[in-house]
Amino acid sequence: MSIKANDPSRQSWLPVSEDSDFPIQNIPFGVFLTRDDVITIGTRIGDTAIDLGAMHQLGYFRDIPLTDDIFLQDSLNDFISDGKKTWRLVRNRIAEVFDKRNPELQQQEEHRKTVLFSMDEIEMQLPVQIGDYTDFYSSKEHATNVGSMFRDPDNALLPNWLHIPVGYHGRSSTIVPSGTPVRRPNGQTLPQDSDQPVFGPSRRVDFELEMAFITTDANKMGEPIPVSEAEDYIFGLVLFNDWSARDIQKWEYVPLGPFLAKNFASSISPWIVTLDALEPFRTSSPPQQPEPLPYLRQSGKHSFDIALEVDLIPDGGTPATVSKSNFKYMYWTMAQQLAHHTVNGCKVNSGDMMGSGTISGPTPDSFGSMLELSWAGSKPLSLPGGISRVFLEDGDTVVMRGHCNKGGLRIGFGEVRTKLLPAPGLKHL
Ligand code: MN
Repeated sequence: MSIKANDPSRQSWLPVSEDSDFPIQNIPFGVFLTRDDVITIGTRIGDTAIDLGAMHQLGYFRDIPLTDDIFLQDSLNDFISDGKKTWRLVRNRIAEVFDKRNPELQQQEEHRKTVLFSMDEIEMQLPVQIGDYTDFYSSKEHATNVGSMFRDPDNALLPNWLHIPVGYHGRSSTIVPSGTPVRRPNGQTLPQDSDQPVFGPSRRVDFELEMAFITTDANKMGEPIPVSEAEDYIFGLVLFNDWSARDIQKWEYVPLGPFLAKNFASSISPWIVTLDALEPFRTSSPPQQPEPLPYLRQSGKHSFDIALEVDLIPDGGTPATVSKSNFKYMYWTMAQQLAHHTVNGCKVNSGDMMGSGTISGPTPDSFGSMLELSWAGSKPLSLPGGISRVFLEDGDTVVMRGHCNKGGLRIGFGEVRTKLLPAPGLKHL
C-alpha cells in the first residue's frame, strides 16, 4: 500500500509556517486533554491539534475498519496493535481530509469546531502506556568516549561492543512527557579519595540525548523477529532525554549495570512521528566492521537523517545550544536492536519503548551528554552571561529538538523540555 500521506506536493487548508515541524506530510500521533477536559487521541498540523476521536464519531474514518472507540482512549496502545496497514490507512485518510483541495471538513464549520484545537487549548499526555522500556548503547562515539573516561583510552570499547547491540532493561514507571519537571535524585555515591560511600543529592545529574522507538505487538514468546522484518513492527519515534546521575551510576553499576542512576526519570516528546513519515529521510548507517553475525546482517539504508540539538537554559538565563548531533551516527540500527532483543525469544508488546542510547557524533560539539561535553567534569562549558557548567544545576532547563529536512520538506518532532528541580529533603531518611 502506498504512503499517500507523504506526497511532498500536498498542502493543507490549515495554516503551517515554513519552519514548522508539523506539515501535512508529518501526521504524528499523540494523546491530549481537550479544553473540555476530554482525553483523546489526536494528530497535529502546524499549530492546530486535531481530535481524531471526534473525527471518527463524525464519520470521517467510515471506510477504514476501526472499532468505534479506537481514538477515545488515554493511550495509543490499541491503535498501535492494529498494525502497520491500519496506521497507513489512517494517515492517508487524514492527509486527504486536510488537503487544501478537499472541502468535506473544511466547509463544515460545526465539525471544525469539534475537531480542531489550538495548541494552547490542549495539554499533551504520555502517548502510550509503556509496558517495557529497554535502553541500548548504540553510538560508537558515545561508547568510546565513556570507555576512555572510565576505563582505558586504548581499549575504550569492550570486546562485545562491535558484535552485540549492547542494552539493558530499564523501568517505564518514571517516563514522563515534555513539560513535567524532574527532581534531582538522592542516592549513594563514593566520594573521590574515599573508600566509604555517602548518601545525599547527586552532584552529577546529566541529560542523555537519545531517540526512542515504540513497537507494536511483534511476536510470540519464543519467536525471534528477523532483522529483515523488524521495521514493520516499529510504529514511530520520539525524542528521549534519559536523565542520568553519573556519580550514583559510577558506584552502583558493577557488576549488573545501570539501576537507580537511571530510573528516577526519563522524558519524551509527546508526538510519535511514524516510521512511515520518516521514509523520505532514510540514509545509510556507519559501515559495520567486523561484519555482524548473520542474524544481524542488513543491506540497504536503515538509518534516518534526523538533526538533533540540545539547549541548556539556566534558571532565568539565556538558552545556549550545547550539542548538535544526528540520529544517523548510530552504529546499530533500530532493526538490528529489535532483532537482537528478540533473538532469544523475548516477547515485545504494543507500546514498548526502546531507547537508542546517547547519540554522540564524531566532534566534541556533537557529544550527547554533559559527561562527554565537560569530559567528566574536567572541561567546564562556558554559557552566555559568564555562566559555566560541568553537570546540571537546580533550575536548569534542558530542551531537545529534532527534525529532518530534505528538498524543502521538513518533518520534525517538536521538543522535549524539562526543568531540573532540587533534590527532595532528607527528613524521612
Ligand atoms: Mn540512556
